[in-house]
Amino acid sequence: MQLGMKVREIQCKSAIGKCGFPGGGFAINPYVGCGHGCVYCYARFIKRFTGHAEEWGRFVDVRTNTADVLRKQIKSSKYKSQQIYIGTVTDPYQPMEAKYRITRKALEVLLEHDNPVSILTKSDKVLGDIDLLKQFKKVDVNFTVTSLDEKWVRFTELSAPSIKQRLAAMKKLSDEGVTVYAMMGPYWPFFTNPETLFKEFKKAGVKKVFTESFNTTGGNFTGVENVLKKNYPECLAGMKEILFDKKRFYEFYKESENKVRQASRKYKIPSTIYFGLGHAAKFKQS
Ligand code: SF4
Repeated sequence: MQLGMKVREIQCKSAIGKCGFPGGGFAINPYVGCGHGCVYCYARFIKRFTGHAEEWGRFVDVRTNTADVLRKQIKSSKYKSQQIYIGTVTDPYQPMEAKYRITRKALEVLLEHDNPVSILTKSDKVLGDIDLLKQFKKVDVNFTVTSLDEKWVRFTELSAPSIKQRLAAMKKLSDEGVTVYAMMGPYWPFFTNPETLFKEFKKAGVKKVFTESFNTTGGNFTGVENVLKKNYPECLAGMKEILFDKKRFYEFYKESENKVRQASRKYKIPSTIYFGLGHAAKFKQS
């Protein structure tokens, strides 16, 4: 149990919803809130809809009946053979999963119905379910890795496992035959280096890399600004300029797109780039 964490057990009426990803599909989120407490987390918007006054990262609602509800819903023909994403809003392998095993129970149901599954996480705790993952005909695990700078990661992804732990988990999954993707986003000015990251992704057996620019809407920059002020004052003005000045944003992410493209080719890992430049760029290994 994380100290100072408010945990509430709740019942969900529906365990599965539409997924907003470009390819469509459906989403399962066993937890509301996230114990990883990333300072830039986009999911903090759910505080507005759930009445939580606690700081982000300090509360988790556990949807304890997720698997039971899913077992009933998944029988519907509309879910047959559909791609199911687990963790589109909050991390399904956040610390509370060790106690509640809601994600594991949901996986057991999906395995019975043979749905293709995609898991999004920052945690090596996913390794605890490798026995199940290996039984799926189609499954992938998408790890978020934005930087190799562990200090930056500790400041911005407060309670998430280290990058070393994530890369080791990615390699273990790959070695065991589970498809692993990397989410290299948000792509940070100063802290994201595609060349060094792709090198590690290659070693970890990553099959595809996704990346996106940082979206400053919804007050997500406040936590990042505080980290910069306290620990990287020399980067503060530059980061703000890139993220808030349209011209600089375009220049920086255009240049970054080229760097991703080069790394993608060099390490022969296809990549898809969402940098808000008016297009999604896809690069396959040449
Ligand atoms: S792990 Fe994901 S959902 Fe959890 S706080 Fe971090 S960004 Fe948000």
